[in-house]
Amino acid sequence: MTVNKFIRKLLNLKGLFVTSYQFKIRDRVLNLWVKPHKNGCLCPYCKRRGRILLIADTARKWEDLPVCGWSVFFWYCPRIIICPTHGRVQEDIPWADPYARITYRFEYIMLVYCQLMTQKAAAKILHIPKSTLSDLLHRTINRIRDGHRIRGLKSIGIDEISYCKGHKYATIVYNLDQARVVWVGQGKGRETIDEFFNESLSDYQKSNIKWASCDMSATYIGAIEDHCPNAVLVLDRFHIAKALNEAVDEVRKEQWRQASANERKALKGLRWLLFKHFSNRSKKDSRILNALRKGNYRIHRAWVLKDEFDHFWDYKAPWAAKRFLKRWMTTALKSRLEPIRKFVQTVKKHMKHIITFVECRLTNAVAEGLNRIIKIVKNRASGFRSLQAFTDMIYLTVGDLDIPAQIPVRFRTM
Ligand SMILES: [Zn+2]
Repeated sequence: MTVNKFIRKLLNLKGLFVTSYQFKIRDRVLNLWVKPHKNGCLCPYCKRRGRILLIADTARKWEDLPVCGWSVFFWYCPRIIICPTHGRVQEDIPWADPYARITYRFEYIMLVYCQLMTQKAAAKILHIPKSTLSDLLHRTINRIRDGHRIRGLKSIGIDEISYCKGHKYATIVYNLDQARVVWVGQGKGRETIDEFFNESLSDYQKSNIKWASCDMSATYIGAIEDHCPNAVLVLDRFHIAKALNEAVDEVRKEQWRQASANERKALKGLRWLLFKHFSNRSKKDSRILNALRKGNYRIHRAWVLKDEFDHFWDYKAPWAAKRFLKRWMTTALKSRLEPIRKFVQTVKKHMKHIITFVECRLTNAVAEGLNRIIKIVKNRASGFRSLQAFTDMIYLTVGDLDIPAQIPVRFRTM
């Protein structure tokens, strides 16, 4: 076995010849001069063999997977060929994308590593600077996602997420059936969400959306009503529960401010207790909360209202749910607790879209789950400075296109 053949076997180089090699001991670099085997001079578009017109005079370099501490580079002078259909083109490079500086194998490993670990860690394993990796990752993901169409969107969820300190937000659109992110855009205003509907979906796709879920922001509600004529809008249950919790907390804070030092003792540690769902409450919790009736009537009142409201989610018939909600609102309005009354106004305004929950039980729970993964990715990287880097990682980890699976099978070596 010749040394060249040995290297080819060792590095699992299929479909190419190693013509010569060179070890650069000081830089820990292995340079390999290669050429396509049996598949040279093919047109990149139609894969037909063409006649060589000329050979590029400068060699191009591709980075391959590092081996045992050696960085490996491929060198080759691509041929310019004449294709009967496409004319003068550069021949197809079997080991890499036409414009890539790295091989398919490298791309695959990079994508898989970045799904699993921070870019910093991946860059270290792959022997490249972190900034280079971000750049390569962005190019690869962009190329693979280019031309990708959203498919089978029936239940849509819209939510916002902050990606950077200083209140920078991104709007994220989910496919709730598939539990995948289909789109990420900068900002949380109407123009952002309009951009999604106008550019990513056809009219047919928009009319095919059956269910939509979002929070109580007028922007998202307006956008869904305008763009998805056939969609039933369901306000997200968790956002509503959160708004009510905040109202109860507002009452608690108000009472805390007014309380004397002695009274404050009784109000300590109430915050999380008030938020607890009745199914998770221990006997001790209930005792403390019931004692509030005498201790602080206003907090107790707010808490009872919140607890009662939770029953709404169990209703199965829309008419019964509506009756319940109306009665609850009347009681809540009589409570004379300003934050609660404010919440009632919100509910009244969105009544139509809250009742729809009873029929379809659609929530953004799937989206919340995805958001958790996104947050892990964000925290792992200690935040992202640009939305672009953040978007790349979202598409890579929870996107609707399995990005590593787009690399040809024969290059998916670990
Ligand atoms: Zn061609």
